[in-house]
Amino acid sequence: MPRVLDSAIREALAERLRFYRDLGLADFYRRDVESVGAVDDPKLGRSVAEELAEREGLLQAAIADAAQSEAEARQEKFFGEEPTIKTRKGFHAPETGAVVPPEERAAALQIIRDEIGDCTRCALHKGRNKLVFADGSPTARLMFVGEGPGADEDAQGLPFVGRAGQLLNNMIAAMGLKREECYIANVVKCRPPGNRTPEPEEANTCSPFLFRQIDVVHPQVLVALGATAATYLLGARQPLAGLRGRIHAFRGMSLIVTYHPAFLLRDPRQKKEAWADLQIAMKELGLKKAGNRE
Ligand code: URA
Repeated sequence: MPRVLDSAIREALAERLRFYRDLGLADFYRRDVESVGAVDDPKLGRSVAEELAEREGLLQAAIADAAQSEAEARQEKFFGEEPTIKTRKGFHAPETGAVVPPEERAAALQIIRDEIGDCTRCALHKGRNKLVFADGSPTARLMFVGEGPGADEDAQGLPFVGRAGQLLNNMIAAMGLKREECYIANVVKCRPPGNRTPEPEEANTCSPFLFRQIDVVHPQVLVALGATAATYLLGARQPLAGLRGRIHAFRGMSLIVTYHPAFLLRDPRQKKEAWADLQIAMKELGLKKAGNRE
């Protein structure tokens, strides 16, 4: 009976290949099936050449799928550059506190979560299913900040678990890290209706909790995903293009601004730019460049 890849694995593999290709890492090693010869694998009861031929077939099918979905994605309506969001007049980031010792960070985050409670501080609570506090390690060296929960996040109570989350996971993996090693949160903790951009009133009500989470985790590098995160972290009114590609000093940490994964899903051509931003983060963290074979 022919073996097929589980559809979730197949899609994940296709997405990973697509992502690497968008980064320009298309030079994958391919073993020549013919040259392997007919060495038998007694466990399988068939030749290694047959086994490799089957695997190669599955890989080629996944690549063909990837090409097809990439073509479809390119045909999707392009919504244009992310809008620049102006912060509320008089926006001030709260004062930074003392650095919390690593062993106390989980408890300190729990205190913030408890304080938020069953929040009704802004109108977003009315349409909320689950409040999305954060995900990941309280002692992470790398933290990502997004805009706000979407439908999947609202249903599960976790940030970045939908399509954009899958892309973020791939970006993290390409950096040589695991999602669980990072800390992930959003500017607002409740889903804006129809996934609209949070209103300044909502973002300014919620973001003090985010600042406290950032201060507790105290990552070495903080990555703002998209214009909303950049705006409410830096209090900046600049377009994203003027904020990307460099390090911003932020509350004793290094902040890097890049595109939101949802934007990259709509315009995959920008993935190379996002990868360049992530490489700045990697350098800060002392991580080796992906694809570096030295
Ligand atoms: N987009 C975001 O900004 N945050 C999420 O958690 C999911 C999608």
